[in-house]
Amino acid sequence: MSSNDNNSNAYSDFHLQFIGGEWQKGKDDSINTDTNPYNGDTIVEIQQATKDQLDEAYDAADQAQAKWAKTTPAERAAVMYKVVSILDQRQDEIVDWLIKESGSTRIKAMVEFSSARAITLEAASFPNRVHGEIRPSNTPGKENFIYREPIGVVAVISPWNFPLHLTQRSIAPALALGNAVVLKPASDTPVTGGLLLAKVFEEAGLPKGLLNVVVGSGSEIGDAIVEHKAPSLVSFTGSTSVGQHIGELANGGEYIKQVALELGGNSPFVVLKDADIEQAVKAAAFGKFLHQGQICIAINRVIVEDEIYDDFVERFLAHVKTLNVGDPNKQDTAIGPIINEKQLKSLKEKIAKAQEEGAKMILSGEIEGQVVPPHIFTEVTREMDLSCNEVFGPLVGIIRAKDEDDALSIANDSMYGLSSAVFTADMQKGLRFARGIRAGMTHINDISVNDESNTPFGGEKNSGIGRFNGEWVLEEFTRTHWISMQNEPRQYPF
Ligand code: NAD
Repeated sequence: MSSNDNNSNAYSDFHLQFIGGEWQKGKDDSINTDTNPYNGDTIVEIQQATKDQLDEAYDAADQAQAKWAKTTPAERAAVMYKVVSILDQRQDEIVDWLIKESGSTRIKAMVEFSSARAITLEAASFPNRVHGEIRPSNTPGKENFIYREPIGVVAVISPWNFPLHLTQRSIAPALALGNAVVLKPASDTPVTGGLLLAKVFEEAGLPKGLLNVVVGSGSEIGDAIVEHKAPSLVSFTGSTSVGQHIGELANGGEYIKQVALELGGNSPFVVLKDADIEQAVKAAAFGKFLHQGQICIAINRVIVEDEIYDDFVERFLAHVKTLNVGDPNKQDTAIGPIINEKQLKSLKEKIAKAQEEGAKMILSGEIEGQVVPPHIFTEVTREMDLSCNEVFGPLVGIIRAKDEDDALSIANDSMYGLSSAVFTADMQKGLRFARGIRAGMTHINDISVNDESNTPFGGEKNSGIGRFNGEWVLEEFTRTHWISMQNEPRQYPF
C-alpha cells in the first residue's frame, strides 16, 4: 500500500474522462485497464472515450479559449503559481502515482516531479514574456506591427515514459499563453500523463473547458484527434513511427495544422582517451539505466576510444554489478520494471539479436516479471541493431573507436539527432567535438539526460521538429500576425 492510500484528501475517481470541466464516464465499449508494471495489480479501469466525446472536448476547448485569451497575463500567471503550490502540497501523492503507474523508481519519480514543477514555474513567466515588434516599412506612410497571439486550441499527445513531465511541458506553456488544450495521455499512463494533472488544474481554478483529458486508444481516436478541425497545433511526444504518421495527417489532410514533434533518439555517449574514466563510468551507468533506459535522451550507444576501452569496460562492469534491481518503491532501487509486455518482448528480441550479430554479452541476468536486469555487450559495431536503433531498456552496447575522428563519425552515424554527450579533460576539445555532432543537444562531461526549463529541448533528423522550454516554446505555442497600418493614402500603379 502506498503512503497516500490512507490520505482522505488524495484525488480519486480516475475512472472518468475530463471534458468541458466535468468528470464524465467514457461512452466507448472498450476499457483501459491501468496496471502496475511491477506487480501487475489493476490500479483503475477506465471506460474509454468515443469520437463524439472527442468532439465535445474540442467544442468545449474552442469556446473556452476565446475568453481565456482575453484574460490578463497576471490572471494566467496566477493559475500557474497555484498549480506549483498544489504540486508541492501533493508531492508524495504524485510521486507514489509515478511509481505505481509508470514503474518509476523513487529516484526517477523525484527527477520527473522536479522537472514538471520547473516547467510550470517557467510557464508562469510566459504570459508576461510574450511581446510583439514594430518593423520599418519601405512603403511611405505605413507602419508594421508584428503581434504574437495564442494559437488557439492545441492537441497534446504524450508518451508513457515521463508522463507527468512530458504532458506538463506541453500543457502548462499552452495554457499560460492563452490557448486551450485537448490532451490524450498514453494508454499505459492515463493518470500521471493526464487525469492527475486535470485534477491539479481544476483545484487551481483553471476555468472549465480549457483543459480536456480524453482517454482512448491511440489507434482508435488518435487520428481523429489530429485530423479534427479545431486544433491549430498538434504537440506530439512519442515514437518516430507514430510521429511520422501524425506529421502526414497534420499536413496532408483536409485541415493543415502546425506540428511539434518530439520523437525517438539514439544518444551517443563518447569517452575520449583523456577523460576522467571513473566519472565517465558513473555517468554512463546513470545516463543509461535511469528509468530502465526508457528515456528518449537516455544513452543508447557508449563509444570509447581504443586506448581506454578495456579499462572503461572493466570499471563499468564492476559499477553496474552494484546496482539494485527490482521493487521501484524501495529507496535504493536503481532499475525497476519495464512498462509493458510489448516492450519486454522487444527487449528479449534485442538481447537475442545482439548475440546473433556477434556482440559479446559480459553481463546478463534472469528476467523476473517485467524486471530486466542490466545487460552489457562489448565489441559492438556501428552496424549492429543495438547501435542503429533505439533500445529503450536496460541493455547497452559499447563500441570501440579508433580515435577522436572515428568516435565523431560513429556518433553521427544515426538517423536520429536528439541528445548526446562527450567526456574529455580538455574543454576546448570537448567543445570542438560537441559542435561536430548533429544533434539538438550535447553535454560535455555529463550525461545525455538533461532538461532545463529555460534551455531549448528538441532534436533534428528523425528525432523531430520544434523545441520545448524557454522562449523556444513561447514561439511554438503562439502564432505570428503581421498587421500593417497605412497612415496616408498610398499611390497605386492603377
Ligand atoms: P508511441 O509513439 O507509441 O505513443 C505516444 C503517444 O501516441 C501515446 O499517447 C499513444 O497512445 C499515441 N498514439 C499511438 N498511435 C497513435 C495514432 N495513430 N495517432 C495519434 N496518437 C497515437 O510512443 P511511446 O511508446 O508512448 O513512447 C516511447 C517513444 O517516445 C520512444 O520512441 C521515445 O524516444 C519517444 N519519446 C520522445 C521524447 C522526446 O522528447 N523527443 C520524449 C519521450 C519519449
